Amino acid sequence: MPRVRHKSVAAAQWSPNGSGVARGDLTAPGAQIFGENVFGPLEQRQRLPKQVYRQLQRTIERGEPLDPALADAVASAMKDWALERGCTHFTHWFQPLTGSTAEKHDSFFMPTGDGTALAEFSGRELIQGEPDASSFPTGGIRATFEARGYTAWDPTSPAFIMENPNGAVLCIPTAFASWTGEALDHKIPLLRSMDALSRAALRALRLFGDTETQRVFTTIGPEQEYFLIDKHFYYERPDLVTTGRTLFGAKPPRGHELDDHYFGSIPERVLACMLETERELLRLGIPVKTRHNEVAPAQYEIAPVFENTNVGSDHQQLCMQVMQNVARRYDLICLLHEKPFAGVNGSGKHNNWSMATDTGVNLLDPGDTPHDNLQFLFFATAVIQAVNRHQGLLRASIASAGQDHRLGANEAPPAIMSIFLGGELERVFEAIAEGRAAESTPGSFLGLGTPVLPRLPLHGGDRNRTSPFAFTGNKFEFRALGSGQSPSFPNTVLNTIVAQAIDDLCEELEAAMSAGGGTSLEAALPQVLATSYAANRRIVFGGDNYSQEWHEEAERRGLLNLRTTPDALPELVSQESVAVFSSYQVLSERELTARYEIFLEQYVVKVNIEAETAANMARTMLLPAAARYLGELKTAGLAELAAELEGEILRFDAAIRALERANSADNHPHEDALRHAEYMRDTVLPAMAEVRAVADRLERMVADNLWPLPKYEEILFVK
Ligand code: ADP
Ligand code: MG
Repeated sequence: MPRVRHKSVAAAQWSPNGSGVARGDLTAPGAQIFGENVFGPLEQRQRLPKQVYRQLQRTIERGEPLDPALADAVASAMKDWALERGCTHFTHWFQPLTGSTAEKHDSFFMPTGDGTALAEFSGRELIQGEPDASSFPTGGIRATFEARGYTAWDPTSPAFIMENPNGAVLCIPTAFASWTGEALDHKIPLLRSMDALSRAALRALRLFGDTETQRVFTTIGPEQEYFLIDKHFYYERPDLVTTGRTLFGAKPPRGHELDDHYFGSIPERVLACMLETERELLRLGIPVKTRHNEVAPAQYEIAPVFENTNVGSDHQQLCMQVMQNVARRYDLICLLHEKPFAGVNGSGKHNNWSMATDTGVNLLDPGDTPHDNLQFLFFATAVIQAVNRHQGLLRASIASAGQDHRLGANEAPPAIMSIFLGGELERVFEAIAEGRAAESTPGSFLGLGTPVLPRLPLHGGDRNRTSPFAFTGNKFEFRALGSGQSPSFPNTVLNTIVAQAIDDLCEELEAAMSAGGGTSLEAALPQVLATSYAANRRIVFGGDNYSQEWHEEAERRGLLNLRTTPDALPELVSQESVAVFSSYQVLSERELTARYEIFLEQYVVKVNIEAETAANMARTMLLPAAARYLGELKTAGLAELAAELEGEILRFDAAIRALERANSADNHPHEDALRHAEYMRDTVLPAMAEVRAVADRLERMVADNLWPLPKYEEILFVK
C-alpha cells in the first residue's frame, strides 16, 4: 500500500477530551499526591513499631547495617500498606547490567487449602530473592550452569507501587549479586562508592574541625532530555521500533535553524502528557521540578530536585519508565535514544553532582565564611584532581553505541574530558597555584581572611554550555551522559575517583600540618592546593569545547580524546582504573573486567541489530519503492530522469550488498570482544552509512506516495 499523507492528519487528531487528566487542586486538603505510592518515612513511622522505625532510619541516614530480625516487622507493615492500596503482587526491582531494570512478580496470596487464599509476605521474602538469573549478562562471572543470582533488599531506597489499569505491584528496590557475592548490577558498586566517598570526606572534614558530621552523601539531580513523537509515525518505522533511532531520513528543509523551539511554548498535547507524567512521578515520590522545550523540534527536558545518589539513580530509572508508559496514553512515543534523528540535536542527561553532609552542608557550596570557603576550595580541588587523573575512566563510563553519534558532533560535549570552572573561580585557582594572594577584587568577592589565599566570587559565575564537566555555582554538572543511560555507573566512577583524590589531598595536608612541630590548617592548605592545581590545571578549559582549536589545544595538553566506544572502553580496565576500584573496594578486578566485557558486547549487539535492520529495510522497503518509481518514469517515457534514478538504484544495490556482507556472521571476528567491537565500528558502521547516504538521496527523488517511511518533517513537526 503506497503511503499518503493521511497518516499525518491522523497523527494530528488529538482531543484533550479523550483520556483527560484529572485536574488536582493542590491546595485542597487531602489532595497532596507527593509520595502517596511510596512506603516512605511517613508511612513507616505510622506503621512500624517505634524501635524498628528508628533502626530503619539509622540505616537510611548513616548506612548502618540493618538487623535482619527487624525484616519481619517491616515486611508485614509493607504488605498491609500495599494490600490497602490494591497490590496483589510484589517484586524485587533491580538493575542488571543490561542498562534497564528487571522485575519478576510474585503473588502475595497463598491458597490455604480450604478454598480461600491468605496474603503472606515474610521478612525473608523482603530481604532476599532468587530470580533465575541465567539470562542476565554476567561477563563470565558466573557460568551459566550456576544460574543462581540473589537480589537483596536495599532499605535505603524506599519501596513503591507501580500501578496498572488492572492492578498494582509492590516494587522493592534491590541489589543483584551472584552466589559468590560479586555484583551483577549497577546498585551494589554505587552504594560501595558512596561509602568510600563518605569515609574519605569525613576524614577531610575532621581536619577542618568538623566533629559533628557522621556521613557524607553524594547528591545528583539529572536533567533528562527526550523526544515525543506521534505513534503513527513510530509504528511505521521498523528502525524506530527495533533500534530506537531512525536509520534513514533525509534532512528536512526545516530543522532547528529558526531557534524557535528552545524554551518555546509547549504544545497542548505534549503539555497534557507532561502533566500526567509528572503527576505519576510525584505520586512515586520523584521530586520533578522543571520542564521545558529543548533545542530540537519535538525535544523536551525534565529535571527533578536533587536527591542522594542511590535514590536519585533509582528514581531516574523509574522516571524513564514512567515517561514511556504515560506517553502511550497520549498516542505519543517517548524516545530516549541519544540520537534518534541524524542532523538533529540528540538527547543527553546532565548529571548535576555534589557532596552533602548529614547535617545539611553542601560541600561544593563556596559558603559565606572564610572557613567554609577553604573547605570548598579543598573539595573542589579534589574534584579537579580526580577528573584529570581519571579522565579516561570517566569518558569510558558514558560510552555507548548511541553516544558515539552525539559526543563531539557540535551539539554535545566532545569526547575530550575537561572542566569548566568559570572565569572567576579559574582566576582564583590560578592565583593559588602561583602563590599570589588576591589581587584587588570587586565587591562581589568574599575575602578568605588569610592573605595567602585569593578572594572567592560570591555568586555562581558565568556559564559554558559546551563543557562536559562544569562548575555551576554549588555543584558540578557532568553533562556528557547519554539520555537513555542509567546514571549509576558514571556516578560510581565519580564517587570513587573523588574519594581517592580527597584521601590523597588529606595525606598531604596531614603531612604539612604535622611538619615543623605543627602547622595550622589555614597555613598548610594553600601549598597543598597550589601543588595539586598546578599538576592538574591542564584539565581546566573555559573556551568553546566544540571548536577545532580546542581539539588541537587538548592534544597539546596531552588530554585524551577517545572518540568512539571501542576507543574508550579499554580505559575501564587500565591499571589505574583497576587500582582505584579495587583499593576502594568498589569493584574487584573480576567485577570490573566483567563490566568491560559486557559493555563491549552490548556495543557489538546494538550495532549489529541496527545494521541488520538497515539492510532489511533497504532491501525490502526502500529498494522496491525506488524500483516502482523507476517503472513509472520509464512508462512515462522520461528517459533522462529514469537513467538518473537507475544510477542511484544500482549504487543502492551495491551498498546493500556490501552491508549484507559486513553483517554476515562468517565475516565477524568472534575470538576477541574488542576486535569485534572495532570491526563493528570500522566495517559495519561505514557500510550502514553508505546505504543511508544513497537512501536519503532516493528519498528526495522517489514519488512521495511511494516512499514507505514517514519523513523527518512529519515526525518532528506534526504535534
Ligand atoms: P541550572 O542547570 O540552570 O543551574 P538548576 O539550578 O535548577 O539549573 O539545577 C539543575 C539541576 O541541578 C536540578 O536537578 C537540581 O536539583 C540539581 N542540583 C542543584 N543543586 C544540586 C546539588 N547540590 N547536588 C546535585 N544536584 C543539584
Ligand atoms: Mg543545567
